[in-house]
Amino acid sequence: MCKEECPYDFRLAEVVSKLKEIQARKVLVQLPNGLKKYYPILRTTLEDLEIEVFLSLSHSWGVCDLALGEAKKTMCDTILHVGHHGQVALYTLSDIKIVCSPAFYKRNPIPLATRGLKLLMAKGCKRIGLFTTAQHLNYFQELREALSEAGAKVHTTQIFPWMPGQIIGCRFDTIVSNLDRKVDAYLVVGGGIFHGLGLFVTTNKPVIIADPYSNRLIEVAEEASQILKKRLFKLMEALDKKNYAVVISTKIGQFRLALAQKIRDLLRGRGKVAELVVADEISPSLLLNIPWAQAFVIVACPRIAIDHQEEYPYPLLNPGEVKYVLRGSLEEYTPKDSLVPNLSLNNVA
Ligand code: SF4
Repeated sequence: MCKEECPYDFRLAEVVSKLKEIQARKVLVQLPNGLKKYYPILRTTLEDLEIEVFLSLSHSWGVCDLALGEAKKTMCDTILHVGHHGQVALYTLSDIKIVCSPAFYKRNPIPLATRGLKLLMAKGCKRIGLFTTAQHLNYFQELREALSEAGAKVHTTQIFPWMPGQIIGCRFDTIVSNLDRKVDAYLVVGGGIFHGLGLFVTTNKPVIIADPYSNRLIEVAEEASQILKKRLFKLMEALDKKNYAVVISTKIGQFRLALAQKIRDLLRGRGKVAELVVADEISPSLLLNIPWAQAFVIVACPRIAIDHQEEYPYPLLNPGEVKYVLRGSLEEYTPKDSLVPNLSLNNVA
């Protein structure tokens, strides 16, 4: 497949200019699994610059997940991290240059998102919080204008200054902290329920996802309610468990040792058995090797406990949910605690 036929735009001209600027000689390419099939397009472009290229076969979940170890072992001077950034950008970490490049999905999402807006306006929601995932940021400004012209008062915010309008799968508290009081509902352009679910759980406001891949509009509330019911059930199960493993991920943007140690100590202080365990990638096959653990606190990506609970036979908790175990009660449970990546110890005696 040539780059013109590829449904994604990797901004290759800018990538090439950045790689030339830093005189990259050996590059490890990181792509999300769904985009690895387009690797030959990137490889050809890089080889034209006489760069030696490697593809990382590991998962690439986000900018929190840089394959620094693989780059060092293969003696790469540069990682080309594709698909989680809204522009071509350069960073340096541990002597390795990180070039982040977008993977913009070419299909225009504006007609679909405008239909989503109509659904929200029919519910009386005119003040809209608008976000897109990194793959659709190329349309963000145009989309914002189109929705304003269609009668919405559009607001947005940003986690990082260089990514206005981009939503990621975590840090929802930060995303909505100054925004939520200004909006009636949220509209998210992105694939699947992943990002909209986080907004719904955090704000309890209507969320519609405009999914350009399936060309579908998804109202998050119903599916999210099912997920939250199951979550509550697992949390209830966890209260009765005695033996906990506190799971640390070594991924560079997920590693929080001090928090894991604090959670272990708090659990032990409540008479639980709690051990620290560590891995790069957390998966059911790894956790099944330690049957002495009856429940897990995941000090890593907060989506693991939410989106992948069904793959695990035992409760997976996020740090924000630990307070219920410490209290021994689900009283005053609020769903947004399920996505809080830190300890919140309100009302824990
Ligand atoms: S921690 Fe999880 S949700 Fe957050 S950016 Fe990384 S992969 Fe995405």
